[in-house]
Amino acid sequence: MTGTTSTRLSDGRELIYFDDAGTSTPRAAEFTTDHRGLPPRGEPGEIRFDALTEEWVAVAAHRQSRTHLPPADQCPICPTTGSNPSEIPAADYDVVVFENRFPSLGPAVGPVPDQATWGTKGPAYGRCEVVSFTPEHTGSFSGLSEVRSRTVIEAWAQRTAALSALPGIKQVFPFENRGADIGVTLHHPHGQIYAYPYVTPRAGVLGAAARKFYEAQDGRETLTGSLLRAEREDGSRMVMEGENFSAYVPFAARWPLEIHLVPHRHVPDLAALSGEEKDELAHVYLDLLKRLDALYPTPTPYISAWHQAPLEPALRAAGYLHLQLTSPRRAADKLKYLAGSEAAMGAFINDTTPESVAERLRAVSVPPSAAFPAVLAAAPEGAPA
Ligand SMILES: [Zn+2]
Repeated sequence: MTGTTSTRLSDGRELIYFDDAGTSTPRAAEFTTDHRGLPPRGEPGEIRFDALTEEWVAVAAHRQSRTHLPPADQCPICPTTGSNPSEIPAADYDVVVFENRFPSLGPAVGPVPDQATWGTKGPAYGRCEVVSFTPEHTGSFSGLSEVRSRTVIEAWAQRTAALSALPGIKQVFPFENRGADIGVTLHHPHGQIYAYPYVTPRAGVLGAAARKFYEAQDGRETLTGSLLRAEREDGSRMVMEGENFSAYVPFAARWPLEIHLVPHRHVPDLAALSGEEKDELAHVYLDLLKRLDALYPTPTPYISAWHQAPLEPALRAAGYLHLQLTSPRRAADKLKYLAGSEAAMGAFINDTTPESVAERLRAVSVPPSAAFPAVLAAAPEGAPA
C-alpha cells in the first residue's frame, strides 16, 4: 500500500509525497517545511475562444519566465539540499506530485464561459501538476524499479480521482514528454498532469467517435473494446498481451512509433483500475518503455499520453482508459516533423508500416523485471496471439 503525505509549499501550492510500498519508515516523517518564502501566486492566465474551430486556446504569456533546462545542481525537483532549496523540501523522497509554479491553467478553478463566440474569453481555470518519478536527477522512467513504477501509477490514479472532483474540471490528462527533441524543459525524470476546464480538441474527437459507436451498440460494447478485440484476433500488430492489459501498434498509426496500451476491462480512468490491474500495469508499462529504448542506440524521445474518459456526462459512459505512446523518431538519426499536411491540415502521413513497427517492438529483447510475478510474455513473432 502506498503511503501519502500532503503538505503546502510557502506560496500555498499543494505537494504530496507518495511512498513506495514496503517503505518501513514513512517518508512523511522526513518532510521539512519550505523556507523559501515564495511570493504569492498570480492570477490565472486567459483562455480565448477560437470561433473558427470552436476550440479553446490558453494564453499563458506569464510562463515565458519559467525554468528552462537548469543545471543539475539547481534542479527544482531534486530533493532540497543546503545549496539547492528546490520545490521539494524533503531531503529524500520516492514520488512527489505538486502544483506547477508556472501553470498554463489555474491555480483557480471554475467553469468556462458558455455561449462562447468571437471575442469570448475567460480565466484559464484548471490545474497543472508536476509528477517527479524519482529523487535521482538522471535516468528515465524505463529505469525505475517495478515497485517505483507502481507508486507512480498509484499517484496518477489518486490525482485523477482528486482532480476530477474539483469544480469545473472536464478532463484529467496525465502525460510525460521525454527527450529534449519533444520540448522537455527539465531533464529530471518527471511527468505532468493537466486538469482542463473543457474537453480538449483531441479528446472531443475521440469522445464523439466512442459515443457514436457505443450508442449504436445500445451500450453493449465500446469502440476501444472492439478495436482491442479486433487487434488481438488479427495479431499482426500486437506488441504484448497480458492478463489485464494488451498493447498493439494501431491499424492506422499516425506516428513512426505508436503503441496503444489498453486495459481488457472497460474502465473510464486510472482511478477505476483494481489493485491487481495496477500491479500488472507497473510491469507492462516498464516493458513497453524498455522496448522503445531498445530500438536504437540512444534513448527515443516520446510522448506518453493517458487518454481518460472526459468528465462531460455525454462522453463519460463510452470513454475508455488507454495509453497512446508516440514518438516522432523514424530512424536512428531522423525525426518526423509536423509540417504542412500534419500541422496545417491534421492529415498524417506515416513513413512506417504499423505491422513492421510491431514486429520490431516484439523482436527487441528487454531485461526482465523481477519485483512482480511475470504474468506477461511478448507475443510470438508474427503469430496471432
Ligand atoms: Zn533533478
